[in-house]
Formats: sequence, C-alpha cells, structure tokens
Amino acid sequence: MRSKASVRKRRRETMDIARDLVHDAYSTTSMLAIQRLVEIARDAPEEVQKGIIRAGLDCHLYPFEPRQKQVDAIWHLVFKKEDLILAAKTSFGKSVIFQAAPLFCRDGIGLIIIPLDRIGQEQCIKIQRLPGARSVFINGRTDKTQELAQEIEMGVYTHLIMGPEIAAGWFRSIASSPTFKKRVCIVAIDELHLVALWGSGIRPQYAQLSLLRRRLGGGVPWFGCSATLDRTTLDTATKMTGFQASCEFFRSSVDRPEIKLIVEMIQPRTTKRFISLFFVLQDAITNGSPTPERIPKTVIFIDSRRDIQKCAECLRDWLQKLLAGSVDAHDCKQIIQVYHSHTTPNDKNAIYDQFSKPDSKIRIMVATESLGTGVDLSDVIRVVQYGFPLERLLCVLIQRFGRAARMTGIKGEAIFLVESWAIGDRISSTRPALQSRTQMLSCLRQPSDTSQLAQSYSTDPGVGGDIPDDESDVAVDAIKYDIPGGQHRRKTGRERRTDLYNDCPALFNLVNRSACLRRILMDWLQESLSDPASRLPAPQPHECCNVCNPDLTRAVPFPWDTTASLRKPQAGTASRAFYDRLTLWGDNVVNSAHRMVKPELSVRLLAQKEEWISISREYTNIRSAAELEKFMKSAWMKDHSHELFEEFNKIKSYVVRNWPGGCTPGTTAAAQVLIRRAPFERQAHPTAERQVSQQRSRKRRLSIEAETPITPDQERRVLFAHEREEYASSLERIIAQAREVPASSSSYLPTLSMPIVSVNSSFTSIGRSMISTDVDYSSTISGVLEDGENEVPGIINSNQASKRPALSRGKGVATKRVVLGVLDSI
Ligand SMILES: [Zn+2]
Repeated sequence: MRSKASVRKRRRETMDIARDLVHDAYSTTSMLAIQRLVEIARDAPEEVQKGIIRAGLDCHLYPFEPRQKQVDAIWHLVFKKEDLILAAKTSFGKSVIFQAAPLFCRDGIGLIIIPLDRIGQEQCIKIQRLPGARSVFINGRTDKTQELAQEIEMGVYTHLIMGPEIAAGWFRSIASSPTFKKRVCIVAIDELHLVALWGSGIRPQYAQLSLLRRRLGGGVPWFGCSATLDRTTLDTATKMTGFQASCEFFRSSVDRPEIKLIVEMIQPRTTKRFISLFFVLQDAITNGSPTPERIPKTVIFIDSRRDIQKCAECLRDWLQKLLAGSVDAHDCKQIIQVYHSHTTPNDKNAIYDQFSKPDSKIRIMVATESLGTGVDLSDVIRVVQYGFPLERLLCVLIQRFGRAARMTGIKGEAIFLVESWAIGDRISSTRPALQSRTQMLSCLRQPSDTSQLAQSYSTDPGVGGDIPDDESDVAVDAIKYDIPGGQHRRKTGRERRTDLYNDCPALFNLVNRSACLRRILMDWLQESLSDPASRLPAPQPHECCNVCNPDLTRAVPFPWDTTASLRKPQAGTASRAFYDRLTLWGDNVVNSAHRMVKPELSVRLLAQKEEWISISREYTNIRSAAELEKFMKSAWMKDHSHELFEEFNKIKSYVVRNWPGGCTPGTTAAAQVLIRRAPFERQAHPTAERQVSQQRSRKRRLSIEAETPITPDQERRVLFAHEREEYASSLERIIAQAREVPASSSSYLPTLSMPIVSVNSSFTSIGRSMISTDVDYSSTISGVLEDGENEVPGIINSNQASKRPALSRGKGVATKRVVLGVLDSI
C-alpha cells in the first residue's frame, strides 16, 4: 500500500506533466505538434486538454481569442468524442468549431454538411486559410472523378464540404470504405434547423443523414449547430440525423441585444407598390444634398423574384427622383441591387463581393433566401423582411434578422414589415391553438402537400444531384384557400389571422406586438435555458424594440402621389384606346417576326407593361421621337424606336380624330377623362374599332383553343402536351437565334433585350452585371399575367407556388405556364 506522501508526490508529478503539456502547446510551431500533444494528453485532466485546444486555436488557427464555449465544444468532440448540439446566436462563431476540430486529430477528416452552395464556398475558402487544412467543396457542378474519390479516401483533404444531396448520393460508396471511415473524426451539420424544415419537404436527403451515420459507424462524433432551435425543430432534427436524445446540448445565449427589433404594418393596399419601404432611402439626402453613400447597408428580404424586381425598380425610381439630376439610372442600379436564384453565379459573386466591401457602392440589396441563411456579410446595418417570410416560419425570420450587425461593436436594426391582414386581435376561435404544437410537428414531418416548399420544388434533383442555392425562392403570399367540400374562396383577414395564430402563436404575438418583441422571440427560442454566463446585458429599453420604445417606429411619409397607379387606363377612355392599339401593333410586330410560334407571343413579354401604360397616358405630351424615347426603358422598345414613333403618330392622329376631348395638348388629365362618345361618332368609325376588338377576340379564342386540352379527357391532354412541346421548342429556337445576332443588327429579334439567364454568363464587372439583371424576364412575363382582365394568379413556375390551390387554377393558366416553364428553364 502506497503512503499518502507517495500519492501526493505522484499527483504533483502528474500535475507538473500536465502543466508542461499546456506550456508545450503554447510553444509549438505547428498544428502537427498540437496533434501529438492531443494524443499524449488523452488521459490528462480536462483542464489540460482544454488548455491544449485553446493553445492550438490561439497560436495557430485564429487571430482572435477563442470563446470558452468554442473550446468546450471542440474538447467535447476531440477528446470526449461524443455527439454535441450547439444553439448559439448568429455571429457566435459556430463554424470555428467544425473548422478547427478536425485539425486537432492526426490524419483526421471532418465532414461538413452545408445547406447552400454559397455557404459551402465561403467555408471552403475560410478553411483553406487555416494552417494544415485542405478543404474541398463538392456540389452538383463538381467533376466527381475517380481520382477525387481516391484522394478523399486516402485522406488528402482534411475537410469535406457538401450538401445533403451529395452526402446521400455520390458520397455513399466513399463513406462505406473502411480506410476512409477510420479517418473521419467529426461530422458537422451546419444550420441544423434546416434538417427539420427541409428534410420533410424540398430536400428529403436531409432526412437520410441518419443513414450516413450508420454507414460511418458509431465511433464518429456528430456536431450540429444553429441559432434557431426551438423545441419542435430540435426534436425533429435530432430524429432525422440520429442524434441521441441524451446527447450533449450546449445552449449559449441567442439574443442579439445590439439589434433593435421593429415590427410595422405595410400600409393597406400598397403591398405591391412598396411605399412602406421608402424609409430605406431617407439617408440618401442630407440637408438637400445627395448623400446616397450614407444609406446604411440594407438587405431587404422578399420571397418572390417578381416582387424583388418590382421593388428594386420602385426604389431606383424614387432614388432618382429624390436626388433629382445628381444620379442617373445607372447609378441607381448600382446603389440598389437584386440577388435571387435567377441571378447568374458570376453575377452573384460580383454582387456579393462588391456588397462585402466596407465602402460598397451597393447600399441596398433586395434578396431572397439565397442571401438569408448563414451568409456572412459583416457590416449590414439594417435588415428588412417585407411580408411574411417563407412558410411563415419564425426561425426563417430570426435567421434573416441575424444578418444585421455581425461585426463586433456595430449596432443594427431588424425590421419586419407585415401585411395588414395579420394585425388585429380578432380571431375566430382560440380552441385550435391548443393543437398548435401537434400541428407544427405534423407540418414538419409530412413530406406532404402541406408544405408549399415541397409543392414548389416539384422536380426531383435526383440522388447526387444539385439543388441550386435558391430552393426557397417561393412566393410568401402563396396561401392555400382550400375549403372542405371542394369550394374555394378567399379567406377573410380574420380567418387568416386565426390560421396564423394556430400555426405559430409566437409569430402572431410578434406581429400584433402583444409584448416586448425581444421577449417573444427569446421565449420561443427557450433563451431561459441558455448558459447565463453567455448572456449579454439586455439592451436599454429605448434600444430594444418598438414596443418598449414606440419612437423606433419609422414615420417617413411617402412624398409623392400614391394614387397614381400603373394600371391600364380605364376602358372607354382615349388613353385606353391608345393603349389597345399600341399593344396590338407591338403584338403584330413580334408575331410577324416569329410566325412559327403558336400560340402567339405577346409583346408585353419583351417590353415592360409600364412603358405601354405611360406612353398611352402621356401621348398628348409626346411630340417628337426624342420625347417618346424618354418613355422607353426596355431594349425591345429602344430597338424598335423608329417604327414605334411612326406608329405612335398614326395612333395619335386616330385617337385625336375619335376622342376630341381626350387630346387637349399639354394636359395629361384630359387624356384620362371618360369620353362620352356621341352615337354618330360610334357609327362614323365603327370599322377600325371593330377590327381591333375582332383581332383581340380572335386572339382570346386562339388562346382558349390552346388551353382546352386541360380537361380530364386523356386524349386532349396528350394533344396539349404535344402543342406544349412544339411551343417550347419554337421559343427555344427564337431565344437561341437571338443570342447569335447582335441587338443593333436585328430589328425583329426582341429576345436580345431579355436578360437571358445563363450559367455561362461572363459578366464579371459589377456594372455590366447590373445591366444584365436589369430587366427581369420573369417579372415582365408576370406583369403580363397579372394584367387587368387576365385572371391568372401570378407567375407560376417550377420554383414557385401559385396563390391559388391547384384545383382552382383555371384553364387559362395552362398556356402561360408553358411559356414560363420554358423561360424558367433557360
Ligand atoms: Zn423590447
């Protein structure tokens, strides 16, 4: 039996050795030496092991001092080798953990599952900078050769970054290889909440991650992290990925006291005119002088490409008006940029790089989810969510809020502009609220028709295929109006509020500002369970939210007349007659150039609806070709300016003859006055008018004929499919042709004016990229579809849900959907 003295001596020696290990760690010259120390310290006390981790992070990997929780997490994965989930706020530095952990294990490989390509690229670059790290990002576009597979198996790379599709597909055979399995030391899932949100819908491969776990074996610790893990999401995500319910769970504070929270209502009936967003331009002018560079870096999230384009156009117009003369349209395009799934990869990179610069020319970015999750833009001051976020999910909203003020020491604000129907305390019944948790669970779990995302993502990318990083470009206002019994009607505001309350009481409370907004969000995220040491002091009430301090509410009046709309002129007016004839001429020009295309093309696919409307409204003021040119925005119009001016004069003289009251020179209003036409006048010029209306009704018949195949009748379906193919191929031909011929040499090839979205786009300079994204093809088309008499609910394509349920979509949609399907696939 050993004496007490010898035990004490032994302990002292151990402590000395241990202390030496930490000391040694601080005097190492490379991560290789740290890896050796990690192996020596396998049986050392916890603090020594953590000391080595800290030394590795501090001396070799990062220029900043690591947070204690980061050290703890890496220790847990490297020494304890057990699963870990970390809930920590955006900007906490969660990625440090999975970036660094594999570098502490000799010959270790870390597998990182990322949700979006953008994040993968970013991580790959960041990891590459770490000493000793060799990272590879594998996505659908990667050339997946045998050599790459071999390199991975042999441990050439320390970090493998991929989406769930690759992990569940191409990567399977590698994951089963025994030599590879031995080397894997950590599997990390970035943005763990997305496993729950997407695994049951648009990206089922997320739900297959538990298979990967089985393949890799039980010895590999898994790590999941997110800033938005409420209880339901956490339960679902852990089940899908095979995390043990008992696995270690670090909860760091998720509050961001440096971000002010503001919820406001979008002015009723102005949702599509975006005037509630005018406040983002308020810093563009200071004491009468233009200061666009003072606009705080702003990201506006809108979940529809069409609305993004419209919104950006509105903001650009206002900015130009506001800074009258000192900036031109080109400058405005530079200041206000768009970023969505149809922005080409090259343009995305150019825009992103420019926006990342501290003195970026881009001050406002209007974007979809492509810029929402996990993207690290450090100095964004203001984030605006316009309308409800995707699927009305609170975690999506919080993630987006988290894009603000990521740089240490800066303050930011997160503004949620919410549709007016959602605000009001009257709801139908509170009883269903009792079921809300169950409903949410089932909503998350069913791959079902309950998920708009699932519906919208109809094409299966296939195992190993790549989903572009914009899978969530879905219209948020795509609300189902299904009512049992097969009848469909629009829900009332009260019913929609009730649904909102049932789906997510926290979101309902947030928009109705029932209590401090921060408290509502933090309760939902179970902030009370977080480590008290990680909590920052709560913000002062005047900097908390617009419930604690109502003065935070924006009150910037819109300076221009809001009644002027871009609707077609009223029927029976001179302007309307002008409009009808002008667009008919445009249709004829387009169709004479593309005789083979059936059903006929509309010119409004190629030129903006607003152009036709404003020319028709202002025709009395336009006296020269130069004056007419001021109204031309689209390339098609500019290409056809000469013929347009000729036709303009013909139409003008016709309208002047027939609507004498509507043509008083110099008055706009006169052109819009309802003209009571005398009976004899109607008789005097019946032929021309009838011709127009006959041509129009012929067209309508034609389109109806083309649409009739959408009936239960099988034969007609086949016929329709055939027509659709023909139509699609003729459109493709036109587009291909247009690509070959330069704009100036072609007067009848309007497709050149379209921003053809191509992955091969060579736009690299920011200026050119802006030009390329200027006219949004889909927005122009949707403009056509949204047009007055047309009942088509909106742009419908493979990526976007309709506003109406499938059953209620009328026959009229089918043909248009063909057009959009083709255009979308370009
Ligand atoms: Zn508050």
